[in-house]
Amino acid sequence: MIFPTQYSEILLLLENINPQKYAYSRNYTDGAVTKLSPYISRGVISVKTVFDFLVSKGMKPNENLKFVQQMAWREYFQRVWQNKNIDENLKNEVHSLDFKMPLSILEAKTGISVIDKSIVNFYETGYLHNHFRLYIASLVCNVSKSDWKMGAKWMHYYLLDADGASNNCSWQWVSGNFSSKKYVANQENINTYTNSFQKNTFLDIEYEDFENLKVPEVLKDKVDFKYETILPKSDIFELKSNLPTLIYNFYNLDPEWRKSEDVNRVLLLEKSHFEKYPISEKSLYFMLELSKNIPNIKIMVAEFSELKLISDNLIFKEHPAFDYYIGTKDARDWIFKDVNQYYPSFFSFWKNCEPKL
Ligand SMILES: Cc1cc2nc3c(=O)[nH]c(=O)nc-3n(C[C@H](O)[C@H](O)[C@H](O)COP(=O)(O)OP(=O)(O)OC[C@H]3O[C@@H](n4cnc5c(N)ncnc54)[C@H](O)[C@@H]3O)c2cc1C
Repeated sequence: MIFPTQYSEILLLLENINPQKYAYSRNYTDGAVTKLSPYISRGVISVKTVFDFLVSKGMKPNENLKFVQQMAWREYFQRVWQNKNIDENLKNEVHSLDFKMPLSILEAKTGISVIDKSIVNFYETGYLHNHFRLYIASLVCNVSKSDWKMGAKWMHYYLLDADGASNNCSWQWVSGNFSSKKYVANQENINTYTNSFQKNTFLDIEYEDFENLKVPEVLKDKVDFKYETILPKSDIFELKSNLPTLIYNFYNLDPEWRKSEDVNRVLLLEKSHFEKYPISEKSLYFMLELSKNIPNIKIMVAEFSELKLISDNLIFKEHPAFDYYIGTKDARDWIFKDVNQYYPSFFSFWKNCEPKL
């Protein structure tokens, strides 16, 4: 699976979306999912871009609720990030003392063959189908009884679509820290959605048996790990002091943003951000390739305070990961712009979105 990085090719991918097929097949790991998340997460396009494109092609949102609802999940998690500390337990009820990851997951050797294959493929491509993300997170949190934070860090590191909100909130949702119950899947469920037929695994049990399931031998060996982001060197450049400076970052690589304006354009890579949310070499490379869609963009590896010293007219897009930026804040695009508060569950959020369609 290859993710093209040229803007014109990315826009062509929108043509492949089939909301009807999506609705009945999205849960299957070979279903008609869009694989657009790497572009949405890097801010090249937004779910609003996708929504508007489909409407322009004749899609009736009310008749394609499943697809619109999945995009609304993304907006929901972004609203949660705007309002809560998503790096900590959102509910204070589920605690774990085990802050390590099962080695067999890191090494793709759990013995659940489709999951192991998906992990190998994940390291190669930086993408995992939603169901594999759920299965893996459930193994980490609810079968091996490890804290969600290590798993979330691992997945974020390798995902091309790494997104603090969708990732941390989903891990918390699976672990029961952001939902009314923990998510688990047995072998029968895995076989159904992955078209496989494996039997006699530690997951080949009934749902009521999860409660008393002992940590399987293969998940007992656990390790700690530390990730580092190898940032590139800054470009050598001088800002034009009479012009404003637009800040691009890990979450904003939008080639259309203030496109026709005469401005400085800087991709700001802050060490402090990547210490908190490390990313792999492949993910970094993907981001840098995407940034090439923005003419004359310059890479600056520095903190925001250092950029502020050399440019006092800064313009950026709102994002909770960078709420310390100072300057002119542009809004991001939303499908449900006015549903902008915190809701404790997706369905309470969705109840407010649906009438707006
Ligand atoms: C443990 C776990 C970790 C995750 N980490 C991330 C992450 O770091 N970044 C990320 O973008 N998504 C994450 N997700 C959500 C979801 O798995 C991905 O957005 C989706 O699989 C991306 O593939 P796609 O573009 O083919 O999605 P499609 O199914 O084609 O959906 C279209 C778009 O809708 C949005 N969307 C769909 N499903 C979800 C969902 N459940 N939650 C949020 N948005 C959704 C995405 O923007 C996606 O690109 C995670 C889910 C889980 C369970």
